[in-house]
Amino acid sequence: MTDVTDTGGSRGRGQPEIGPETPASPARLLPARESAGKPAAHLAAIADLQAAYAAIPPGSPVRLAKRTSNLFRFTDGKGKGAHRGAGYGSGHGRAGHGSGAASRGLDVSAFGRVLSVDPRSRIAVTGGMTTYEDLADATLRHDLMPLVVPQLKTITIGGAVTGLGIESSSLRSGMPHESVLEMEILTGDGRVITAAPGGEHDALYRGFPNSYGTLGYALSLTIELEPVRPFVHLRHFRFGSPEACMDAVAAIAADGGYLGHRADFVDGTAFGLDELYLTVGSFSDVAPWRSDYTRERIYYQSIRGPQEDFLTIRDYLWRWDTDWFWCSRPFGVQRPVIRRLWPRRYRRSDVYRKLVALDRRHGLSAALNARRGVPQHEDVIQDVEIPVERGAEFLRAFAAGVGMSPVWMCPLRLRGAGPGGRPPGTPRGAGPEGGPRVALSDAGGSGGRAPVAARGAGPGGRPPGTSRGAGLGGGPPGTHRADPPWPLYPLEPDRVYVNFGFWGTVPLPPGKADGYHNRLVEETVTGLGGHKGLYSTSCYPEEEFWTLYNGSAYAALKAEYDPAGRLAGLYEKCVRGR
Ligand SMILES: Cc1cc2nc3c(=O)[nH]c(=O)nc-3n(C[C@H](O)[C@H](O)[C@H](O)COP(=O)(O)OP(=O)(O)OC[C@H]3O[C@@H](n4cnc5c(N)ncnc54)[C@H](O)[C@@H]3O)c2cc1C
Repeated sequence: MTDVTDTGGSRGRGQPEIGPETPASPARLLPARESAGKPAAHLAAIADLQAAYAAIPPGSPVRLAKRTSNLFRFTDGKGKGAHRGAGYGSGHGRAGHGSGAASRGLDVSAFGRVLSVDPRSRIAVTGGMTTYEDLADATLRHDLMPLVVPQLKTITIGGAVTGLGIESSSLRSGMPHESVLEMEILTGDGRVITAAPGGEHDALYRGFPNSYGTLGYALSLTIELEPVRPFVHLRHFRFGSPEACMDAVAAIAADGGYLGHRADFVDGTAFGLDELYLTVGSFSDVAPWRSDYTRERIYYQSIRGPQEDFLTIRDYLWRWDTDWFWCSRPFGVQRPVIRRLWPRRYRRSDVYRKLVALDRRHGLSAALNARRGVPQHEDVIQDVEIPVERGAEFLRAFAAGVGMSPVWMCPLRLRGAGPGGRPPGTPRGAGPEGGPRVALSDAGGSGGRAPVAARGAGPGGRPPGTSRGAGLGGGPPGTHRADPPWPLYPLEPDRVYVNFGFWGTVPLPPGKADGYHNRLVEETVTGLGGHKGLYSTSCYPEEEFWTLYNGSAYAALKAEYDPAGRLAGLYEKCVRGR
């Protein structure tokens, strides 16, 4: 490596968040032999962590002390999801009773740094708890970025790989775990192993995504980078129906651009069934002007007009963080007067999330609402992936059944058929070096229509046996290949999906209990052959859960890497909230 960068660790604010993981049994302390080549401080930190892990007494919960979190799982402290006045309980949370690492949590702060960035090979080595804010800063210094940078600054690379990340480069570059070349993992049985495609621990490498820290913790990751240009040129295209919008996504997936605008980045925002936007971004060396949405103007509002915009690459990466997409609204910071008073350094997703966690912990807004006679609301905070050809059905069903807006839309496609995807440095299609540079034309604009792609054809085609019009709940659950490249989240290679993200609360219909809307979303997603992320509330019955998330593959990995069950099982953690 030619350049060693130490960013000084995560910049998360506030107290460390420490939370329950699982009962423990004695650990097996093995030397970190496979970590050779890493800095001495990193090797020492691994030895310390292994010792701390081994010292946790049998039966005590294993806790991960981490300064930030983007999990959105609230529990009532009894392991059941509850969404009103509930305490915060996730992979982290607050320390319980007891002493030592078991109560304080495993100190993983030493793994929150970028270890090296090599501009020649375009490879970075970074601690598993490094925030994307720090990672992006370290790589942008070399005009490079990770292939996928999730939108929230304090999402960490380990969290994004184990919990699945996505961003507007995902149609081109897949998901964050697909550009991981190798991972150093502290496994549930106390070993530190190196997992890489084709290696001895290939199965763990492939099974780590969507394991949510239940098989082990990523301590360092070696990742691919790609070159950037200084600016991103955005075009916002408006559509009058979900069908037109999804057809345009399919066209972009096929062509790598839209109406002459190269699609280095694509995401979208649905304000309603008759007002949807796709935002197509192209790397650019020039910018006639630059917008700055960390000040008075608000990014998501800008999408409705004007139709064209320019941002620096850094501001583009964090365009959604300043207002936590649109979720900063309840804090009043979208009102001009309050926005001016709210310090810029606190216009960040992690600040808003801490305020929400505080509210949930103390039940403040729930108590206020109860006093005002406001009907009970349910948190509906989810990200789901739906095959593009059924995306319009999802949007219509969601509008009818949940009725929350806006909805974030982000197309994605796995990079390659096998683990590790395409070889380093060969991103799909577009990108600053990946395809022909298309002239930035003036064609299209708001209301522009894509050439309509035939449904079922091409990369977004329906899987055999999934008939269109089967209706919600009518399709086959999932569409598993015999050997999916990432077994715990079996997206199909070469199929185009659209991630729909929605984060808010909705009133419960009379007579319906908490969980009603979340379960409706789950059933709808399954019926459409989609998948749901597990960072938030999940209500699946256990048998259904293991059918959807490949229970047999998970059981084999658990037996191999955490035979004593020191870490929680995936179902216990993600559904029961333990
Ligand atoms: C409002 C909202 C919007 C979101 N939008 C997006 C989005 O646009 N794009 C996107 O990619 N994601 C999004 N997410 C989801 C987010 O990426 C996941 O929740 C992710 O897992 C959070 O990562 P984190 O680093 O904050 O991990 P944490 O929240 O700290 O932990 C998440 C889980 O991962 C485990 N974990 C953490 N670090 C490690 C590690 N090093 N090794 C193994 N396991 C580990 C923890 O035990 C826990 O179970 C969103 C979440 C919310 C709440």
